[in-house]
Amino acid sequence: MSRVYNFCAGPAALPEAVLTRAQEELLEWQGQGASVMELSHRSKAFIDVMEQAESRLRRLLGVPDDYAVLFQQGGASQQFAAVPLNLSSDTDSADYLVTGQWSKKALAEGARFVNANCVADGAEDNFMSIPPRDGWSLGGGRYFHYCPNETIGGLEFSDVPAVDSPLVADMSSTLLSRPVDVTQFGVIYAGAQKNIGPAGLALVVVQKELLGQARSSCPAMLNWETAATNGSMYNTPPTFAVYLTGLVFEWLESLGGLEVMGAINARKAARLYGHIDNSDFYSNPVSKSARSWMNVPFTLADSALDKVFLDEAEQTGLTNLKGHRSVGGMRASIYNAVPEAAVEALCTFMSEFEQRYG
Ligand code: PMP
Repeated sequence: MSRVYNFCAGPAALPEAVLTRAQEELLEWQGQGASVMELSHRSKAFIDVMEQAESRLRRLLGVPDDYAVLFQQGGASQQFAAVPLNLSSDTDSADYLVTGQWSKKALAEGARFVNANCVADGAEDNFMSIPPRDGWSLGGGRYFHYCPNETIGGLEFSDVPAVDSPLVADMSSTLLSRPVDVTQFGVIYAGAQKNIGPAGLALVVVQKELLGQARSSCPAMLNWETAATNGSMYNTPPTFAVYLTGLVFEWLESLGGLEVMGAINARKAARLYGHIDNSDFYSNPVSKSARSWMNVPFTLADSALDKVFLDEAEQTGLTNLKGHRSVGGMRASIYNAVPEAAVEALCTFMSEFEQRYG
């Protein structure tokens, strides 16, 4: 068996220890005579899996008791609709800050259900920096939606915006990469397939006082209060994904939690950006104060070499480095499960490539 260093933006690398554990207990899980996938979601055994996953997440993130933790299906994109359906009526307005492709999509979906006010749009700057706060046209709506880390552009907030409305954050590609103060947010949601677990699952952390305001037309499957009162089991949950997610949380705890993970991630990002900045051959166009820890886009001095770079990287066991189709170039996603050795191997490859072609 040979596993590559996988820089995919999502579904991303999962911790090898988690995959091995899942493999070991796949056929028979904890003396049940069946795999975890084959247990009733109403069984005590599976309810324990769900509850443990929730309590581990609460410990890791420091989620206070006045917040609900929900495991939702449909990925982060489904939450683009769930947010307005749970927090507003169709005559309400809500603020949306656009800093890249994902917050733009959230705005487009939100606008189907609420009067969505675009506070500022970083497109003018090609999403290379966060639009300055003094230029935002805040409408003071039911909530303020933003994306703390734009996965495609590699643009990340270094602070939490101070606004009066409840903050709703699409943290798909940053959640669990370091500690976060949950109390600053009304709602945090994230697709699982980066730092959390398998694709298809979304985590929602929501202040309990924001529950109970969903529209009567809100589908039961998107209603956060329904999920909260049913322990995220209104219908049959994606049991294997929840189980694997619980293993990822356990792995994070065993490493020492998010402080430790954050320090590792800071080192990885500093190493890679440092390498890019020290070369005339590679460059990263994002404003330095807004560079993402998780998604590092970079270009080569000669884009005609892009394919050669990607082919040779792949042959070296460094995969999924192609930038998103909308921006081109390269992108290295260095999520939690991508070890420091992977970043080291990438930097070494980049140096050798530059020597040969630069
Ligand atoms: N938001 C962000 C920031 C993302 O990176 C992604 C997926 N790459 C999504 C939303 C959409 O997630 P999903 O595919 O789980 O719907």
